[in-house]
Amino acid sequence: MNNRITVAKTAGFCFGVDRAVNMVYDLSNQNKKVCTLGPIIHNPQLVEDLSKKGVSIISSPEEAQKDDTIVIRSHGVGKEVYDNLTKLNLNYVDATCPFVAKIHRIVREKSLQGYTIIIAGDKNHPEVLGIKGHSVTETYVIKDEQELLECLKVLKNFGKTDIILVAQTTYNTKIWSECIKSAKKVCTNLIFFDTICNATNERQAEAVSLAKKSDLMIVVGGKESSNTKKLKDVCEKYTTTHLIETADELFNLPISNYETIGVTAGASTPAYIIKEVIKTMSEILNQEENFALLFEQSLETEKLYNGKRVKGIVTTIAPNEVHVDIGAKQAGIIPRDELSENPDLKSSDIVSVGDEIELIVLKVNDQEGIVTLSKKRCDAQAAFEEVKKAYEEGKVLTGTITNVVKGGVLVLYNNTKVFIPASQVSDKRVEDLTTVLKQEVSFKILEVNERRGRALGSVKAVINENKKAVEEKFWADIEVGKQYKGEVKSLTSYGAFVDLGGVDGMIHITELAWTKIKHPSEVVNVGDVVEVYVKDLDKEKHRISLGYKKTEDNPWVKFENEYKVGDVVKVKIVSFTSYGAFATIIPGIDGLIHISQIANQRVEKIEEILEIGQEVEAKIIDINLDEKRVSLSMRALLPEEDQKIAKEEQAVEEE
Ligand code: SF4
Repeated sequence: MNNRITVAKTAGFCFGVDRAVNMVYDLSNQNKKVCTLGPIIHNPQLVEDLSKKGVSIISSPEEAQKDDTIVIRSHGVGKEVYDNLTKLNLNYVDATCPFVAKIHRIVREKSLQGYTIIIAGDKNHPEVLGIKGHSVTETYVIKDEQELLECLKVLKNFGKTDIILVAQTTYNTKIWSECIKSAKKVCTNLIFFDTICNATNERQAEAVSLAKKSDLMIVVGGKESSNTKKLKDVCEKYTTTHLIETADELFNLPISNYETIGVTAGASTPAYIIKEVIKTMSEILNQEENFALLFEQSLETEKLYNGKRVKGIVTTIAPNEVHVDIGAKQAGIIPRDELSENPDLKSSDIVSVGDEIELIVLKVNDQEGIVTLSKKRCDAQAAFEEVKKAYEEGKVLTGTITNVVKGGVLVLYNNTKVFIPASQVSDKRVEDLTTVLKQEVSFKILEVNERRGRALGSVKAVINENKKAVEEKFWADIEVGKQYKGEVKSLTSYGAFVDLGGVDGMIHITELAWTKIKHPSEVVNVGDVVEVYVKDLDKEKHRISLGYKKTEDNPWVKFENEYKVGDVVKVKIVSFTSYGAFATIIPGIDGLIHISQIANQRVEKIEEILEIGQEVEAKIIDINLDEKRVSLSMRALLPEEDQKIAKEEQAVEEE
């Protein structure tokens, strides 16, 4: 049978333990007298191996000799221990896992600010004791949701509301979620830091995935190790699983009967034990070469270097950083400002736990076991490719103006920034570019500089294109008589220009009112929305004459409807001529009082009887609508006798 074996990438030490163990071996190889504060790891074979190299175990700094180099293990210790080491003037190397050290920093800082500290975890675990030892204020350890609620109740009774909650790195994620959910309901001020390290969860997740694909799973590790037993439990739900402590146990198993074999190992299983298991397997299955190669590949961390593109799975989202598993021994960390160019977004708006994302390596810190990564730079590279494509295809992109820079603004498009010169920010001049900040704009790419990774865009080009399209449609639709609602854009002495939706038309001054006006502003103002209709148009010259006056407002229509011959009206004298006086009946309609119709005697000078602005009563004696003439008579209102005399006098004169 052609057996196939797969070794889990997460088999064995997590990076924190790996780093601590390597530190001890390094110091020992430098011929230093090394002792560890407690066993470096709970693995008898490894502790024995170190013991053979002269590495001893002490339980407190006081037990150390002056020439000892003391190693603080990955669980970390309280501040008092550091103080003691300094006081006793002892050499020490701190192998505290960076994830644990981070909790120390949070607890120290917040307790100094007066916060009460609650730690979710096992109160007897050395890591929890160490975390507690960095607090200067009241500190409580709770094991689950119920204990947390009781603790919060007591604190509330004592008026304590400034509280922070942290978790032991190996705390159960499900219980943690329950704790947060319940705590938020009773304590709105609670600040919580998700300090759980996902190394254990990731190891189990990979073991499950491997078990699903394998006919047989071999879990390597101490039979008393709780995390190794847990690995066996999760694997045997999916396939036949055996837990072995050493390679010898393989001889009692029918491994050659299985075609696909998966191998994983607990967190405290040293690599050499895993290697021994693989080697023995290869001997049993007569596939030494293949398995040796496979083993080397499984243990070898993929070479990481600055600028390398990697894929990672989001494991934890904290306010200032996101942790990702990049399949390496080192922990992958994306600082918040390397997550996205948009500072307004929260980390959780950008990624979710479980997301697979592309990243660029910024820095590899082997000493701390950390790889600093950037998502935004990776996204920027991808976005720049899109920008290039948009340039080639003349496509319109949409982005947000984020910065005002010398000569223009920067538009953020998918984590890449495009420069828009001030002259291209709009179709009109923008005096103060800060007024366009945070605006979403559509733009086209005018230039791409691949070597410098820069692009130049224009918002104006898109506005002008849109305008052109609107204009084309407008001219296709317009016809004489069509009505529009438009905004008055400007006034001149001869008319008003109205925006009909991208195209301007003009209302001539004579079209603005039925009465004579001196300036269009007597009727309309800039900004007014008016209803107009197309009177005339020239599509070639793009000229539109608009009508504005309404028939119902025509004073002749009104006059015809409301007045008739014989009516007596109050009129106002507006002008004189040699043959009579004109008087306004209603606005827009002036009637003539002939000189012979002013008085019952001969009138030499009209001005001696009437004056401009004077209001008099007159009778309508004739209406000629065709010629738009109205004749009035003041004399017709004189008493009958006077009229008779006047008529006689007139007849004599005419003889
Ligand atoms: S915090 Fe995580 S990486 Fe560090 S020692 Fe603990 S399990 Fe390992």
